[in-house]
Amino acid sequence: MDHKCLNCGIASRNVLLLSCEFKGEMLFVCIKCLPILIHGSR
Ligand SMILES: [Zn+2]
Repeated sequence: MDHKCLNCGIASRNVLLLSCEFKGEMLFVCIKCLPILIHGSR
């Protein structure tokens, strides 16, 4: 499996990805983008 971060698109082979579920879909976000998503900054 080669999941990618939903925010920056980096692959799980390069960085730790965290899985999450949203509206019944499994999404993945890297540890760098997670704080961005939490704080909602754009
Ligand atoms: Zn990312």
